[in-house]
Amino acid sequence: MISSETAAKPHIKKRTIGTYATNKAGPVVIFVVGLHGNEPAGIVALKAVLDQLNILKPTFKGSLIGLAGNITALERKERFIDEDMNRNWDSYLAEVYPTHDALSKHAEDTERRALTKELTRIISGTKENVFLCDLHTTSSESVPFISINDTLRNREFVKNIPSPIILGLAEQIKGTLNGAFNDLGIASVLFESGQHDDLSSIENHEAFIWLILEQLGCIDPVEIPKFHKYREILGRLALDERKIYEVFFRHGIDTSDHFKMEPGFVNFQKVKKGTRLAHDKNGAIKAFKNGRLFMPLYQGKGDDGFFLIRGISPFWLKVSERLRKLKFDKYLHWLPGVRKDQSAPNTFIIDRKIALFYSLQIFHLMGYRKKEVKKGRLFVSRLPYDDETPSNEEIMKNFDYLTSRS
Ligand SMILES: [Zn+2]
Repeated sequence: MISSETAAKPHIKKRTIGTYATNKAGPVVIFVVGLHGNEPAGIVALKAVLDQLNILKPTFKGSLIGLAGNITALERKERFIDEDMNRNWDSYLAEVYPTHDALSKHAEDTERRALTKELTRIISGTKENVFLCDLHTTSSESVPFISINDTLRNREFVKNIPSPIILGLAEQIKGTLNGAFNDLGIASVLFESGQHDDLSSIENHEAFIWLILEQLGCIDPVEIPKFHKYREILGRLALDERKIYEVFFRHGIDTSDHFKMEPGFVNFQKVKKGTRLAHDKNGAIKAFKNGRLFMPLYQGKGDDGFFLIRGISPFWLKVSERLRKLKFDKYLHWLPGVRKDQSAPNTFIIDRKIALFYSLQIFHLMGYRKKEVKKGRLFVSRLPYDDETPSNEEIMKNFDYLTSRS
C-alpha cells in the first residue's frame, strides 16, 4: 500500500503537508517545515521530494511525514505573529499539553498545540522509532549547517550528512522544538539550508531530506535520484577543516544596547582575537578569542548578537564517544568540588573554587552542558537519552510527566 497526500495549493491550510509510506517496516521520519513563517524553502523542497517519491515509487522502509509549523505566519509570510515559535517549547509542554483548551493570548500557542497534537498522535500510533528534523533558512547568507543537542543518538542520526554540525547551540538558545523533543526522548536535528530567498536553499533542503532518508535506511542510495549530486552539493558547501563545531561564546543583547554588527562578516568566517565585530552604546565589541563567527545578527530582531564557535578534533570526539558508551559519568562526582544534584537527574553541581580548572572540559566531553550558575556554583546537566532509545510508550509518559509537573 502506498499512500500519499500533497497539498496542491501554494497556501498552507493543513498541518500535514504530505506523507509517503509503504507496508515495509522502518522508522517514522518527520520533517517540520515553516516553523518560521518567512521560511517557505523547506515546504517547497518537501513537496518536491514527495512528488518524486510518488512518481518513482522506490522500495521504501518506514514512513516520511511532512508537517507545517506556523501556518498562520506562513500565510502572512511573516516570521511569527506574536512570538518566535521556535522558543518556549519546554514551558509550553509543561503548562498546556495535551488538551488544555484555555484560550491563549498568542497565535503561536494555538499553533504549538496543533503541532504537538499531531506529533503525539504519530508517536503514540507507532512502535517504530520516530525521528524529527526541523528545517529552517537564515536571514543572512550562510553555508548549510546542522545543529544538534550533543547526544550520541543525534550524532549517529546525522553522521553521513556532509554539512558542518554545531553542538551546544541548545545550551545558549532555550526552548527550541528540537531541545524539548530531545528531552522527551526523540532524536531530533535542525537543518539550516541557506538564505531565506536563495533558490539554492530549496535544493539544499532537498539534498538533506534525501540523505536523511538514506541514512535512516528508508531508501537505498541507488534509488535516490541525484544521490551523488546531493552528497556533493552539501559536501562542497561544507567547511574545509573540521566537521563538528561547538559554540563557546554567545553575545546576548537587548534593544537598549543599540547593538550593530560591523558590515561584511559572513557566517562561519574565521576571526582573530581582537577583531572588531560589532558595536553598541558602550563602544566596540571585539572577539576575545580566535574562532569562527556564527550567526551574526544583520537583519530582523533577536536577542543573539553573534556566537563564536570552534572545531572539535576527531580524536576528542572519539574519546568522548568511548567514555560515554562506558557511562563514565557515574564517576564524575569523585572529582574534587563536584557533587551530584540530588534534586535533578543527570545533573552535577561544580564548586568552581575547589574544582579543577579542566572539570568543565571533562563534563563537555561527557555531553554535559552548562545549565545555570547559582552562588558561584555551576550546574551542568545532560540530556536524559544519550545512547539509549526509549520506547514510544516511555516517550508518551514523558509528555505526561511534563504535564503533571506544572
Ligand atoms: Zn527559522
